[in-house]
Amino acid sequence: VFDQLNSRPADSLLALIKAFQADDRPGKIDLGVGVYRDAMGRTPVMRAVKAAEQFLLETQDSKKYLGPEGDLQFVRLLEPIIFGNSPKFAQRLAGIQTPGGSGALRLGAELIQTANPSAKVLLGTPSWPNHKPIFASARLDVKEYAFVDLTSQQVTFESVVSALSSAREGDVVLLHCCCHNPTGIDFTMEQWREIADLLVAHRLVPFIDLAYQGLGDGLEQDAAPTRMILDAVEEALIAYSCDKNFGLYRERVGALYVVARNADDVRKAESNMAGLARVNWSMPPDHGAAIVKTILESPEMTAIWRTELEEMCRRINGNRAALAAASPELAFVSRQRGLFSNLSMRKETAVALRANHGIYMADSGRMNLAGMQPADAGAIVAALRAEGCL
Ligand code: PMP
Repeated sequence: VFDQLNSRPADSLLALIKAFQADDRPGKIDLGVGVYRDAMGRTPVMRAVKAAEQFLLETQDSKKYLGPEGDLQFVRLLEPIIFGNSPKFAQRLAGIQTPGGSGALRLGAELIQTANPSAKVLLGTPSWPNHKPIFASARLDVKEYAFVDLTSQQVTFESVVSALSSAREGDVVLLHCCCHNPTGIDFTMEQWREIADLLVAHRLVPFIDLAYQGLGDGLEQDAAPTRMILDAVEEALIAYSCDKNFGLYRERVGALYVVARNADDVRKAESNMAGLARVNWSMPPDHGAAIVKTILESPEMTAIWRTELEEMCRRINGNRAALAAASPELAFVSRQRGLFSNLSMRKETAVALRANHGIYMADSGRMNLAGMQPADAGAIVAALRAEGCL
């Protein structure tokens, strides 16, 4: 049977990790894989996470099953962080724990496929490379539109307006509501307001992907577009990941929320989300969500977590400022937010940056700003200049 399979292309970012490890030049810089790194180049377990794990080790007395919806206390404790206190749609909100933001996206895609199989998913490109395959594998039709011009590093807002205006009622619009991956280019609040108006006018359903809350300008600031959109629309989905802002990556921590029109629809959405979870992973993994719950139940641990997250955010924005200061052509990097910027370059240039300068970034030109130190800015700019990028 397996001879019937076609091989899939290898994941190029994983190949990049191996190539970086094999490079023994001392000045090599890893701007490849999308994880946070500290000033020592490590991706540490956060202090609050260590404290929560210690607490769990000492107090957890059972690992019995929780059920397809996971730990609903975890789901509830995240709500004020994402949605603020007492949002007007609080009574219309359903939530379920998922294996990471990826699980939330997949579950949300299947929920749409169940409710409205002919819905199209509008996806601004470039986007996280897993978005399209996740929706496509849930048998949804994905309609891509370019939302940004990488040469000028500007949003092409007319293409957004045109894509949303020509969508049909019930179509779904995937939105990165902070820290866009891979570009770091977020809409301005005015543009978000226009997007919210278009969603309402054309009766479209926003599917908000929040994977980096707190790594742009801070937890509250990063939530502003999400809250504004949810204030405007009747229905929405929100895929949330705790894997970056709690540094829990491999623990797979996330949640899917749905905003529905009324209590009846909330109940329908809840039972369908639980049913879909049951046939996908039966129940989500617990450990990471238990850590997040433990932190959020403790004011002391929450304070430690918030402080550490602010330090991470400051470090990323400090690196952005250092790159911008090293070259006026890179000024745009300091206006972008989150882990990434996506330079406009051909694959051969990314290969040359690795071979000639030991600077590792994705072939697409995406660089992880957390992978550098401020002192690396000069070397990065010199390499980009030598390879004709600036
Ligand atoms: N959405 C975006 C935009 C992402 O960048 C990622 C992770 N790289 C995810 C969702 C999925 O996150 P998780 O690791 O929690 O599945």
